[in-house]
Amino acid sequence: MARLVMKFGGTSVATVERIKNAARHVKREVEAGNEVAVVVSAMSGKTNELVAWCKEAAPLYDQAEYDTVVASGEQVTSGLMAIVLREMGIPARSWQGWQIPIYGSDAHGSARIVDVDGAGIIAGFDRNREVAVCSGFQGVHAESRRIVTLGRGGSDTSAVALAAGLKADRCDIYTDVDGVYTTDPRIVPKAKRMDKVSFEEMLEMASLGSKVLQVRSVEIAMTQRVPTYVRSSFDDPENPNPGTLICDEDDIVEQQIVTGIAFSRDEAQITLRRVADKPGVAAAIFGPLADANINVDMIIQVVSDDQATTDITFTVPTADYERARTLLESKHDTISYQEIQGATDVVKISAIGVGMRSHAGVAARAFRALAEKGINIRAITTSEIKFSVLIDAAYTELAVRTLHSLYGLDAG
Ligand code: ASP
Ligand code: MG
Repeated sequence: MARLVMKFGGTSVATVERIKNAARHVKREVEAGNEVAVVVSAMSGKTNELVAWCKEAAPLYDQAEYDTVVASGEQVTSGLMAIVLREMGIPARSWQGWQIPIYGSDAHGSARIVDVDGAGIIAGFDRNREVAVCSGFQGVHAESRRIVTLGRGGSDTSAVALAAGLKADRCDIYTDVDGVYTTDPRIVPKAKRMDKVSFEEMLEMASLGSKVLQVRSVEIAMTQRVPTYVRSSFDDPENPNPGTLICDEDDIVEQQIVTGIAFSRDEAQITLRRVADKPGVAAAIFGPLADANINVDMIIQVVSDDQATTDITFTVPTADYERARTLLESKHDTISYQEIQGATDVVKISAIGVGMRSHAGVAARAFRALAEKGINIRAITTSEIKFSVLIDAAYTELAVRTLHSLYGLDAG
C-alpha cells in the first residue's frame, strides 16, 4: 500500500465527461490498495473567465475579493469529482483549502503555502480509505481567515505541498502531455520525453520558460524530496504510462551533459548608452528598479572606447518593460546616460544540465553553433547547471533546434 496525491489539471477536468475519465485513474489506484488524495484545478478557461469578471467589476479590484472569486473554479471541480467517485462506489469527499486547512501567507493573488494540516484527510484514510478531493490553487490566511490563492498554475504547488504534508510516497501530476520533454515538441518535433529528470534541472527548466509545472511546486518537491511524476490523464486508465519522474540526481544513472533546452519570450532588453564609468552607477540604476519590484535578469556591462563611459544592458519581464523605461527616464539626471534603447522582440534560450558542473566548454560549443547559423547573441548569462543567451525572437525556432541537436537530444 502506498499513499499518493493525484493532481488533475484544467484540461483533465474540463468537462464532466473528462472528470469521469480522471476518476477512472483514481479508481485504479484505490483498487490497488492505495490511500489517495486528489487535487483538482478549475475547468480549463474557467480561471481566466473569473479573472476577467474581477477586472470588469473594477479595474483596481480588491485583491482579497479577487481571491474569493477566482478560488471558486476549483470548488466546482472538487465537488464534481467527489460526486463522480461516490457514484462509482468509492468513498470520497471534497475539501476546500480552508477546510483542510492549507495555510498561506497573506500575499493575495500569489500567496505562499506556510503549512498544511493533513490530520483530517488522514483520519478519512484510516476510517474507510476515503478519497480526499482537494481544491487546488487555494488556501487560507490563518490570522485574517481569508481565502488566498497561490498564483496562476498554483494547483501544482497545492499538490506537491499536500504530498509533503501527508508524507505521501509520491505525487502524480496528470496533465494533457505524457511527460516532460527535452524541449517544446511544438517547436522541435524530434523532442524526446524524458524518463527521469532531476529536481534541480526541472527547477531551472520551469524558471527558464518550460510551462509544464509551476516553479514553486518544483521548489517544494526539491526541498521536501517528493518524488513527482508528470503523466497524461488521456492514457488508458487501465494501462497508463508512468510519465516522467522528477527525482534526486543520484537516482538517474545515465546523465547527459545537457538534458533540456528551454526558452522564454517573456523578456525585454534595455540598454543605457554611455553611462559614467564610476562607482555607484550600477546601484543608481538597479536600486530604483528593485524598489519598484521589477526583476532584472541578465546584466552586461561593456567598457566603451573612451574609458570614461560604459554601456549597460539588462533584461526585465516584458510586462515591466514600459514601467522600467519610464522609471529610468525619470532618473536621467542622477544616472546621466546619453541614450536609452530597448527591444521587446527578443527571446531567452537556455540549455540546462547537471553535467555542466563537470564539463568545460559546453556553452562555447553553443556560441559557435549559433554563429554558424548567423544568429547574433545580445547577452549571455551562465550558472553552474545552465547557460542562457538572449537573441532576436525571429530566430527562436532555429536556435532551439540548433542547440537541441548540438547536444544530442534529437530522437530517432
Ligand atoms: N486554476 C488555476 C489557474 O488556472 C490554478 C491551476 O490550474 O493550477 O491558474
Ligand atoms: Mg498548470
